[in-house]
Amino acid sequence: MNVHKRANEKVTCLVGLPRPHVAVGAVAGAANQDAEPAGACAGGVAEAMPAVRPGARLDPLTGLPDRSGFIAEVRMLQNLGITATVIALDIEEFTEINEAFGLELGDGLLRAVADRCAQVGRSLNGHCVVGRVGADEFALALVPPAGETEDAAAAAWVEDIVLHLQDALATPFDINGQQLDVRVVIGQAWLARGSDAAEALQHAVFARRFGGHGRVVHSYEEKHGERRLTQALHEAITGCRIDIALQPKISLATGELVGLEALARWRLADGEQVPPNIFIALAERHNLITQLGERVLTRALETLASWGQEGSLRVPIAVNFSAMQFHDDQIVTHVAQALEQHGVPPELLELELTESKLLGHAESAMRTLHGLRALGVCLSIDDFGTGYSSLNYLRRVPVHRLKIDGSFVRGIANEPGAREIVHLLIQLAHNLNLQCVAEGIETREQLALLREMGCDEGQGFLLATPMSPWAAARHLGQKKAPWMPLFAQHP
Ligand code: C2E
Ligand code: MG
Ligand code: MG
Repeated sequence: MNVHKRANEKVTCLVGLPRPHVAVGAVAGAANQDAEPAGACAGGVAEAMPAVRPGARLDPLTGLPDRSGFIAEVRMLQNLGITATVIALDIEEFTEINEAFGLELGDGLLRAVADRCAQVGRSLNGHCVVGRVGADEFALALVPPAGETEDAAAAAWVEDIVLHLQDALATPFDINGQQLDVRVVIGQAWLARGSDAAEALQHAVFARRFGGHGRVVHSYEEKHGERRLTQALHEAITGCRIDIALQPKISLATGELVGLEALARWRLADGEQVPPNIFIALAERHNLITQLGERVLTRALETLASWGQEGSLRVPIAVNFSAMQFHDDQIVTHVAQALEQHGVPPELLELELTESKLLGHAESAMRTLHGLRALGVCLSIDDFGTGYSSLNYLRRVPVHRLKIDGSFVRGIANEPGAREIVHLLIQLAHNLNLQCVAEGIETREQLALLREMGCDEGQGFLLATPMSPWAAARHLGQKKAPWMPLFAQHP
């Protein structure tokens, strides 16, 4: 539904969404006095959907959502299953402008840039959230109009908007009588289903950083050249330069450390860390994922073996398995050999398998799962809730744990819908005699709610961020773990 604000200015509102109160507010209130708040849609559903949700964190200078407000708005879109693209935009030489003309003029320029971005957002035949995500950095989340969700059509739509945005910002600004030409750098990243809004923004920022002078860079791979990056990844795997970080998994009843998850880490020769989602996807596209997975498994087993010898820490380590690894019919034998070679008891190894990827090959997946379980390793379904498991499938699948995807956990404190889903998933796990783990716990409120709901285990930046195996042995071997104060109160 398009609601016309003025003669030819469209503000679109999404209708037919599962939760009508959710603000997919076109554009946040623009800074300019004569600009109407962009979400001022008239009547019906529009009335129920303010441009920016009450309580959203706003930047006082521009009136746009700030970084965390922007991420929260985009997560709302994600929770509704809406795909978007994130554009990161930076004003070139803003510091020089500030130094040359003073802070007041700099502030005026930021307000004016915010206003032009918001105007572009309002002119769209689709949806847009605009935020000020850094001092001179803006971001736009663009949702293609219904009917343009085909990849090519959506990409063309986004390209059009980027050109429109570049045009809008190329017109000189008049700030308090001072004419200013501004150059912006733009980066773009798709926010894939199941990926995180903060990560998509980070990828767009990466892309922007490597663009420059009006060039739009669409992805991290494009900066390095996909072929060169793939070659470097291959060399890193064979040269044993893929390492792991370990993130603690904690009992929500007692605060005890119950396990660690191994997350692959890769640094380029210059020290730059490549985001895992980028290189995992690269490895999957270029048939390197099995080798990468073996490397991660080896690092995890080496770590467990050395801890066994030192007697420093005895907790299971979970390794993420990709679908491709999992459908290799030799996988059970490989895992058995690796455990034996490192002298690690199977109960110290856990394998995490992503729900959506498991489902594609239900029967062969089931055989492999039974084979792995017979070895004595622990199995869990990762990112649970993002696939569409049937209850019948879940009943038959021989796993021990369900890990509730972080996208649901994020919403539990302020979205009744998300809270209900999490509650349901916990009950479902328990009814199936499975342990339940909540991923992505970032706030005390989320922790308290999950404890109240009886979730068994939790992981998240609030409790502990991923750390090197060395740091894990050093800090976690101690009696009093750093997150213990969070468990001082009963749920
Ligand atoms: P995952 O298995 O669901 O791992 C959890 C991800 O969430 C990790 O990101 C972790 O750093 C992040 N995380 C943990 N707590 C929080 C939190 O409180 N807030 C937020 N926003 N994020 C949190 P990371 O390390 O970037 O890994 C991303 C994904 O890449 C993993 O998701 C997993 O699917 C994949 N991955 C990582 N290592 C491997 C691997 O060795 N093999 C395979 N096949 N996939 C891997
Ligand atoms: Mg995982
Ligand atoms: Mg996960």
